[in-house]
Order: sequence, then structure tokens, then C-alpha cells
Amino acid sequence: MMTILDGKQLSLDIQKEILEAVNTLKDTGKRAPHLAAVLVGEDPASQSYIRNKVRSCNRSGFESTLIHKPSDISQEELLEIIDSLNNDDNIDGFIVQLPLPKHINETEVTLAIEPKKDVDGFHPANFGKMALGLEAYLPATPMGILEILKRYKIETSGKHCVVVGRSNIVGQPISILLSQKAYPGNCTVTITHSRTQNLKEILLQADIIIAAIGIPNFVGADMVKDGVVVIDVGINRVDDVTAKRGYRLKGDVDFEEVSKKASYITPVPGGVGPMTVASLLMNTLKAYKVNTEL
Ligand code: NAD
Repeated sequence: MMTILDGKQLSLDIQKEILEAVNTLKDTGKRAPHLAAVLVGEDPASQSYIRNKVRSCNRSGFESTLIHKPSDISQEELLEIIDSLNNDDNIDGFIVQLPLPKHINETEVTLAIEPKKDVDGFHPANFGKMALGLEAYLPATPMGILEILKRYKIETSGKHCVVVGRSNIVGQPISILLSQKAYPGNCTVTITHSRTQNLKEILLQADIIIAAIGIPNFVGADMVKDGVVVIDVGINRVDDVTAKRGYRLKGDVDFEEVSKKASYITPVPGGVGPMTVASLLMNTLKAYKVNTEL
């Protein structure tokens, strides 16, 4: 029996839970949690992610502020915006949507965000705490993956988890989290990347595969064993003249073929993507509680 891991539905469930919590706060005279997002330039994928985030804020009873700046904004001006968000007591948390234009140093931007408002969990202070198993804002995508595993009660202890991709926002942190003594966790983790040799042989040993590569349909049915749990993080735009927008979203996994062998699998779209947004909201609610000392 194969189960599709319905991240879209889970995300709506979480947003409903958050809305109830926020309504309770408002009933007692408190203000709503407030998330701000900084978007630079006109990248269509970034614009679509931000639209989803703002929509989900509305659904959860949050206030949201979108600061949209042209792609030729100077690094200095962007750092000034971050500084004012850091110092604005009415903003509980904020994100700067990546990627940023080439003339802007992403590391410096990430370092400028006050860790207690860093609801994307990208600041080294949060990454370091996460790696040590201390209380921290977890990066939103890995946190969303943990939430999927948890809500579907998928056994992880002692399982061999193969992560494909070593990005700072997905591959690295999810490898750390799943190896920790926790649930979900206690996995034996193998992290693989573009220089890995015999990737197919390694993947064939996986009980759980986390694919975060950025290449459509990269993981094929010949690379997975029967009963595997597949978490597909990839969001790739593939041209398709029959689609309304002229493209379709594809994951890093060949869903049609791999789903025939899997026990659980996330679809794209509707899997990890919506859970990333739900995690951002959970982190913002947490930041709100810290900020308002609830
Ligand atoms: P990235 O784009 O920064 O890096 C890709 C990784 O894949 C690298 O670590 C590289 O070593 C690895 N890789 C490349 N070619 C490979 C090969 N042939 N064999 C093995 N490994 C290879 O990674 P990212 O930012 O984690 O993004 C990966 C994908 O996930 C993209 O499609 C991105 O759009 C998507 N993404 C989705 C979400 C979400 O919310 N669902 C969030 C972040 C990223």
C-alpha cells in the first residue's frame, strides 16, 4: 500500500490550528502575530513563494507586511531595512527571500538578521543551536519535512536515510536533524551530493530518501528499493505548452514510476512546499510568544 504524503492538506490543518490559537489571543485583547517579508527583484519563483506566504498569513490570522524593492537596491539600503525590522517591536519575525541579486552578499544579509526574529532559521546562531539540539528556529523546509514524518507517524529510528543535496537550507540541516536522538530522528544518515560516487548503489540501500537537488525527475525507479519513504524537496519549472502558465512544476523524483515502489511519497506540487510555509508560520507564532513574553 502506497500513501501519498499530502503536505497541502497538512499545511491547511496547521494553519487552522494556528488561526484558532491566534483567535484566542485576540479574544483576550492581544494583537496578532506579525510576519514581514523582504522581496528583492522580480524573480517569478520568488514572487510566487512570497504570494503563498502572505496568503497563508491571512489564513492564519497573522498580520503581514511585504517590502518589495527593485533588483538594483544597494546592499547598504537592504541592510538598513533589516536594521529597522530588527528594531520594530511590532514585527515578530521576518524573512529575506533568497536568492538575492548577485551584487548583494547573502551571507552578510543573513548575518544582519536578529536571531530572535530569524524565522527562516538561516542565521548561524540558529543553525548552531539546531546542530547542538538546543531550542532554535529550525530552517523552514527541514522543519516541514520533520512535521510530515511526525504527522504521518512514520518510523525513523534505526532507518537508513539518504539525503541527496548538501545546501545550507535543506540538505545539510535535514541530515543533522534526522541523525539526532529524537523523533523524527535516530536515523543512520548518508549525505550525498554532486561529487558522490555510486549514488545509485547508495540510494538502493535507503529506507528514507530526501531529494533536494534541483534536477527534475533525477531519482528514478531503478534507484530505489521497494517500500522506500520518499520526500521530494525539488521544485523545478519544466516547460509545457499544454499547461496554462506554459510550465509545470516537477520534483527531483520521478513520481509516476517511483510511487509504484514507495510506501510513502510526497507529490510536487503539494508536498514539501506548503509545509515549508506552515513551518514559517509556526516559527513566527513562537517568535511572537517570545517577543510579547507570553
Ligand atoms: P541547491 O540548489 O543549493 O544545491 C543543489 C544540491 O544538489 C547541491 O548540494 C549539489 O551537490 C546537489 N547535486 C547537484 N547535482 C547532483 C548530482 N548529479 N548528484 C547528486 N547531487 C547533486 O539546493 P537547494 O537550495 O536545497 O534546492 C534543491 C531543490 O529544492 C531545488 O529544486 C529547489 O527549488 C527546491 N527547494 C524547495 C523548497 C521547498 O520549500 N519545497 C525549499 C528549498 C529548495
